[in-house]
Amino acid sequence: MKAEEIQTFKQIQDVLKNIQHPLLKKNIVDLNMIRNLEFQNGTLAFKLVYLNPTSSFNSQVEEAVRSALNQISAIKDLQITLDWEITGSQTSPGGQLSQVKNIIAVASGKGGVGKSTVALNLALALAKSGAKVGILDTDIYGPSLPTLMGLKNTPPLIDSEKKKMLPLEKYGIKTMSIGYIIKDEDAAVWRGPMIGRMVQQFVQDVLWEELDYLILDLPPGTGDIQLSLSQMLSITGAVIVTTPQDVALADVVRSIAMFQKVQIPILGMVENMSYFVCPHCQETSHVFGQGGAKKKSDSLKIPFLASIPLDLRICEASDMGKPLLDSDADSKQAQQFLNLASAVADQVCLANDRKVEINL
Ligand code: ADP
Repeated sequence: MKAEEIQTFKQIQDVLKNIQHPLLKKNIVDLNMIRNLEFQNGTLAFKLVYLNPTSSFNSQVEEAVRSALNQISAIKDLQITLDWEITGSQTSPGGQLSQVKNIIAVASGKGGVGKSTVALNLALALAKSGAKVGILDTDIYGPSLPTLMGLKNTPPLIDSEKKKMLPLEKYGIKTMSIGYIIKDEDAAVWRGPMIGRMVQQFVQDVLWEELDYLILDLPPGTGDIQLSLSQMLSITGAVIVTTPQDVALADVVRSIAMFQKVQIPILGMVENMSYFVCPHCQETSHVFGQGGAKKKSDSLKIPFLASIPLDLRICEASDMGKPLLDSDADSKQAQQFLNLASAVADQVCLANDRKVEINL
């Protein structure tokens, strides 16, 4: 490299180091987003590696990079290759599920708020971005994944050599549920220590492969299963699902308090069945009140991730076992879940970054 080229190269590095990621508030070089930087004969080439392929901040970062580099007159040709890489927070190789980069718990204060529907559509939306995703239904008393996935009465196969269950694969994600193995009416008889063992089996005796995200569909409330999973696994963060009329209730706050007690970051709150758009006149009605979850998340200082409408298509798709993200992927309703997934993936990056800071 000639002397002027060395000088320009240094200038380029300095310019890039001055660009902050809008969410992570760190420069993009330290975040390892710039790779294979090469400058020769006026041509600058490098890879810009996003931490979340669908982040709404990506275009902002690219624009900032291009406009900063355009100020350097020695660059005659700018070749940026866009790429992405999902990073994880699992810090103990060889520990439980260390092959999974990020474990996201989806929880709710009480049942019937659409937690499983949100968990599944979140998993499918993350998979649509190209990530490797699995979902584990840990709701031993009322497993809904078999219905939502259209996999009722489908026992998983066993790998006879490793003596482990293989997750079922459908719609591009890996899934496991107690409901694949036992009948609905048998679920209610599980008690105390049996539950702990059962949950452990789903972690240890299932051949989970390398995944970017494993979604845990937790049972509602703050019982034994939630606690044992929180202690057993290195959970990246929790997403709390609520409905507008539920937000004022102590259940949501209790659920959040439980995660905070076991030091699991809250990735944010989702308001499900938020509003209803009349399919005939398109008028929006806030059937259960407006803005409650947003206010609650503001007062608790946790991110508000999305409002999902009360929609017949969401209900029908779930109940028929054909999730919306697959059967009606271009619909407005599916877009809401894609936006949710993007916001969750951003919060996962933030949680991982904070974890690195704490461990430094
Ligand atoms: P939970 O896991 O909280 O018990 P589910 O996900 O099983 O709740 O949902 C309960 C019922 O509500 C299901 O019939 C589901 O199809 C329906 N449902 C969930 N979310 C929506 C929504 N946004 N619009 C319409 N129906 C919904």
